[in-house]
Amino acid sequence: MSGRPGLVFCVFVDALGWELMRRRTFLEDELVVRRPLDTVLGYSSTCDPTIITGRLPREHGHFTFYAYDPQHSPFGALRALSALPASIANRGRVRHLISRAVARAYGYTGYFQLYSMPFSRLPLFDYTEKRDFYEPGGINGGQPTIFDWLRQQGIPTHRTNWRRSERSAIDALADDLGQGRPRFVYLYLAGLDGVLHAHGTGSTHVEAHLAFYERELRNLLQVARRHYGEIRFHLFSDHGMTDVVATCDLMSRIEATRLRFGVDYAAAYDSTLARFWFLAPGARETITEALQREPAGRVLDDRELAMLGCDFPDRRFGELFFLLNPGVLLCPSFLGLTPLKGMHGYHPSEPTARALFATSAADVVAPRGLTDLYAFFKREADIASDRSAGVAA
Ligand SMILES: [Zn+2]
Repeated sequence: MSGRPGLVFCVFVDALGWELMRRRTFLEDELVVRRPLDTVLGYSSTCDPTIITGRLPREHGHFTFYAYDPQHSPFGALRALSALPASIANRGRVRHLISRAVARAYGYTGYFQLYSMPFSRLPLFDYTEKRDFYEPGGINGGQPTIFDWLRQQGIPTHRTNWRRSERSAIDALADDLGQGRPRFVYLYLAGLDGVLHAHGTGSTHVEAHLAFYERELRNLLQVARRHYGEIRFHLFSDHGMTDVVATCDLMSRIEATRLRFGVDYAAAYDSTLARFWFLAPGARETITEALQREPAGRVLDDRELAMLGCDFPDRRFGELFFLLNPGVLLCPSFLGLTPLKGMHGYHPSEPTARALFATSAADVVAPRGLTDLYAFFKREADIASDRSAGVAA
């Protein structure tokens, strides 16, 4: 080992939850410590900023994509698109092309998708992930990320570009490790999330994808062992996945109140969460009553939102949150019109929502939740770098 540099090798597998991992032998000879990791309420757009900043959603200001804000909505020009017939406007490919054109025209560097947001509603909403939060200055709340810190410390880092396919991300890392360049690796693998959404947790597609990961990660470790001394190998996720057992058409229930969207109230329907803003007197009471008659979920009160770190001071993401029970999918929603087999974004206390932390380093103080990962990365980078071996930051 002497003379060879150390390596911190972090692998982020989107949606590989604790429940999925706990009974499997996935890389068990390498990953000797495995434990559940508490997630945060929201989707990857919430979890990932928490992972790289150590901050709660209310601090970093990332939650779900759309916030009611007609004054600052950049989408006024898209109003004309609401004239498109539904058969064209709701086609996934069409929306994908329009999303790309909008992102380019507006200079968005973050992940931008219109999803199934109705074009007629768009001018009422602002998009909250305009910048790539992995790049400097990308966090809405202005906090530095672990990548800012690594850059400041001058630690050579390899980070996956999330726009690339898994295959090319793995190949790019193999190249870089083969040259012995990085000292801190952050490999992001996003493919399993899509497989779980499409097929559910019990599918053979999931087994096949995990086998692919196992094979590729073993190869990468083999390459790394030729060039590095101590390799500290860590694997974690942002959230788990819950099998969908029912759908809930909350939109129809709210529309049946005869309140007018954009006049009396506004709502954003995410996959597992409905968020409301009240624009006219009495709207809050009417909507609250309608929600009380819906058995598939419940209103999160202010105390609970504070405990979850989702008490946004400006109420930008909603004045009232209605969260669905685990396994129920909001359908239709602004994120999708067709049912999926798996979903995440349920209450963080739901067992299948829990994320995962696993490591080859038996000596680590294992993080308990996503908010601990930022400090964990720093400690690890310090251990592996020559300048302060063994001294925690
Ligand atoms: Zn997902």
